[in-house]
Amino acid sequence: MRWALQLGHLYGISIRIHFTFLFLLAFLFLVSVAAHGWLAGLRSLLLLSLVFVCVLLHELAHSYVSLRYGLRVRSITLLPIGGLAMLEDLPRDPRQEIAIALAGPAANFVLALWLGVLLLVVAPGDLLRPVVSSEVLLGSLFWSNLYIGVFNLIPAYPLDGGRVLRAWLAARMDYIDATRRAVSVGHFFSLLFMLVGLVVWQPWLVVIGLFVFWAALAEERIAVLQSALERIYLEDVMLTEFQRLAPSDSLFDALDRALHSLQDDFPVVAEGRVVGVLTRGGLLRAFAGQGWNNSVQAVMSTRFEVAQRRDTLASAFRTLTGRGLSVIPVLEGETLVGIVTLQNLLYSIAFLSRKSAADFEVLRRAR
Ligand SMILES: [Zn+2]
Repeated sequence: MRWALQLGHLYGISIRIHFTFLFLLAFLFLVSVAAHGWLAGLRSLLLLSLVFVCVLLHELAHSYVSLRYGLRVRSITLLPIGGLAMLEDLPRDPRQEIAIALAGPAANFVLALWLGVLLLVVAPGDLLRPVVSSEVLLGSLFWSNLYIGVFNLIPAYPLDGGRVLRAWLAARMDYIDATRRAVSVGHFFSLLFMLVGLVVWQPWLVVIGLFVFWAALAEERIAVLQSALERIYLEDVMLTEFQRLAPSDSLFDALDRALHSLQDDFPVVAEGRVVGVLTRGGLLRAFAGQGWNNSVQAVMSTRFEVAQRRDTLASAFRTLTGRGLSVIPVLEGETLVGIVTLQNLLYSIAFLSRKSAADFEVLRRAR
């Protein structure tokens, strides 16, 4: 996520604060100082910071359970309306998704329990006063944790309750259909938030409603995409009409083929086996230097990865982006049967993400 300040790393997870959140802190501090003086300003700054520590603990609880299931977590970002944990892998087992989703609110309820016990000793009167104000720090933290826990359990996807709903549906139907239904429910709630926010004039509820609406759409797109990536095999999308080179070909042969086709990257094949890859970048560098009368063998890259035709699009995508490659030769056994390129995958993804699982089966059967 852009516009975020990195605080540090925890268990390999990058912890960030979004700049809008820093603006919010500064804004509330200044408003408070202007209205009630420096001390009040510092108190509200302290309260808001502590509330966001609770939000961070909520996100860390999600992350902890994800890591326990072997799912990588990329980052946690604190936004003015809450936290956001970005998982690198999506949980596909509904039980795992439910456990990960419930861990966040559970963390807030545990915190509320501790704070409640503490309040019982220090200021029992604040226990029954549901106010969030910098005047009553401990009571405010107690109630904030209860609010955060309960609010996140509303089945408004992508809030945690909505994720539980999606997982529950996914155990009963196709994952994409389950996501679409959860998104519809999420949209219903987000409109409700906005409506209530406007009627009782709580602008934050309107902002949260807008965010949930937008986030539900974005999450739907990611879920559909991820699902497509894992259901599609390379043989479904690989380029089968492509040029190949031999190690003994001259660079002029390579240039000729690059000029007369749309292909950027060429597998180099000797005796039926892939021995290297010549990229357009490599070709241009060879021509820019003194290497133009070289053979392909001299300038090809031997640092490449191959894939099998039944590998998934997801694995090819990870290899291409993770290792900074532009092409992967696709084999059947040892024989070269196709190539996939980043551009080729991006086109396929854009096209396939609009299709449902049933469409893929039809496509496959038709072939
Ligand atoms: Zn959560």
